[in-house]
Amino acid sequence: MEVFETKEALNAYLKPLKASGKKIALVPTMGALHNGHISLIKLAKENADVIICSIFVNPTQFTDPKDLEKYPRPIEHDLAMLKDAGCNGVFMPDVAEMYPSGSDENWHIDLGKAEFLLEGEFRKGHYQGVTQIVKKLFDAVEPDVAMFGQKDFQQVLMIKNMLSHFKLPINIITCPIIREDDGLAMSSRNIHLSIADRKNALVLSKSLQFVVDNFDQFSLKELEEKARAFYNTIEGVELDYFTIADGNTLEPAKSKDENSLVALVAAQVGSTRLIDNMIIK
Ligand code: AMP
Repeated sequence: MEVFETKEALNAYLKPLKASGKKIALVPTMGALHNGHISLIKLAKENADVIICSIFVNPTQFTDPKDLEKYPRPIEHDLAMLKDAGCNGVFMPDVAEMYPSGSDENWHIDLGKAEFLLEGEFRKGHYQGVTQIVKKLFDAVEPDVAMFGQKDFQQVLMIKNMLSHFKLPINIITCPIIREDDGLAMSSRNIHLSIADRKNALVLSKSLQFVVDNFDQFSLKELEEKARAFYNTIEGVELDYFTIADGNTLEPAKSKDENSLVALVAAQVGSTRLIDNMIIK
């Protein structure tokens, strides 16, 4: 497995591979890898010949500087996991390589109304930062396919909107959420959970599963009310939102007959903010 710190070195590696017709996949990550990330690498291998994983903790998508500062960076562990998974190349640039003119460089594109809903409401400017870095990574790699996790449901939608904005010919593949045995969605942030938080964090997957399992029994309003009630009794957990939304627009679902419905949740568990979702249909 090759490791690149500059776009130039990455390009020198990719150029002959592309010339010989190899299909390139990009798996963008912020590191602190777990089996969720590895599932993206494995799916990438089924869809391309050469797999590039990027590891870059992107400053422009963090609204809270403390969150950026405490983001875990176990690089040796990450490289070992990627090598094991059969990744071909790792792109791990520093901030100056990705933002040569400073991280306050100008970037704003129209991502549609969904940018300001859910995560966008709680993390102002988050999706401008996400699309800014993903565009830079797409430009650096020019992949045929790119893998993203359903775990960040809204992010996938925003990336697709960015793609149509720039008319980029990249196939986006969305990968299912990988969970711990007890249902907790894997996340790089889970290491910050205390023993009590870790137990409390199960309320996210449990409340989502409740909605999926009881979808036919109750109205949308009842389902949301009952799911939100899961959070009332748990000390140390604060709900940011629990919503059943139209999977295409992320607007609150108006009817159970809509063709794409997803339940999404975000909650503060101790000092860690977690998100999760389940597709209903
Ligand atoms: P991150 O490093 O957290 O920015 O995540 C990098 C990619 O991995 C994103 O596309 C995430 O949606 C995806 N991802 C994160 N957690 C999981 C998970 N538990 N299952 C599947 N994909 C995930």
